[in-house]
Amino acid sequence: MSAAPPVALTIAGSDPSGGAGIQADLKTFSALGAYGTAVLTALTAQSTQGVTGVHVVPPDFVREQLETLVEDVAVDVVKIGMLAGAETVEAVTAFLAARAGEVPVVLDPVMVSTAGSRLLDEDAVQAILTMLPHVSVVTPNLAEAGVLTASEPATDLAGMREQAAAIRALGAPRVLVKGGHLAGSEVSDLWLDGDGEQVLSTERVDTRHTHGTGCTLSSAITALQPQRRHWLEATRDAKAWLTGALRAGEQLRVGQGPGPVHH
Ligand code: PLP
Repeated sequence: MSAAPPVALTIAGSDPSGGAGIQADLKTFSALGAYGTAVLTALTAQSTQGVTGVHVVPPDFVREQLETLVEDVAVDVVKIGMLAGAETVEAVTAFLAARAGEVPVVLDPVMVSTAGSRLLDEDAVQAILTMLPHVSVVTPNLAEAGVLTASEPATDLAGMREQAAAIRALGAPRVLVKGGHLAGSEVSDLWLDGDGEQVLSTERVDTRHTHGTGCTLSSAITALQPQRRHWLEATRDAKAWLTGALRAGEQLRVGQGPGPVHH
C-alpha cells in the first residue's frame, strides 16, 4: 500500500490565464504528487498581457474559508501567495499564529506582477513583516527582498547574501532570495537557514514565457517538502523541476504576451 499524497493548501489570488496564482499552484501540486486545496484572497482580471483589475475577497471571508476548510481537512503544508491588502495579511497571520509551528508554511511575498500591476497594497508591506516569524520559508525575488529590507534591490550575490541575512533577522527561519532577474547564463538563488547558506544554480532557460515562474517555484517547494528529507532538498528538486517547466512552456500557445510555464 502506498502512502497517501500530502495535502497542500494554497492561500492566493486567481489568475484566469492559468499561468500564475491559484491556477498555477494547483497544477503544480498535482504535477508533483500533492493533493491541492485552495483559499482565494482575490480575483484578478488578467491575461498573459497583464492585469486589468483586482477584486479583493473580504478578509473575513478569507478567514471563513480557512476555518471551514481546516475544521474538516488535515492540511500537511501551506503556500501563501497574493495577499492583496493589510487586513488579509492580518487574517492569515492570525490563522498561522493560532497553529504555531504545526504546519510548514512557504511564503511567496508577491507584491507586483511582472507587467507592473500591484498585487499587494503598499501599506500591507508592514503587515507582511509581522507574518515572517510565522512562516517556515520566504521566497522573495530581488525586488521583494529589497522592499522587505527597506533597501535597493541587490545587484549581485553579495547583496543577496546581505538581504537574506536581514530577512532572517526579521524572523523568517529560512530564506530563498531568487536571482532570476540578474544577468548570466545561470540563475543563482541564495538559500540561507540556521545551518548557513547555499548558492543554488540552474541553467538559464532562454525564453520570454516566464509568467508565473515565482508562483510555480514556491508551490513546487510546498508540494515537495513533505516528500523530501529536508527543505533544502525540496527546494533543489523544485528548481530542477521548474527548469523543465520553463522549457516545456515553449510548446504552449497561450495568449499574445509572455506565456506561462508548463507542467
Ligand atoms: N497574478 C496572481 C494572482 C499572482 O499571484 C501573481 C504572482 O504571484 C501574478 C499574477 C504575477 O505573475 P507574474 O509576475 O509572473 O506575471
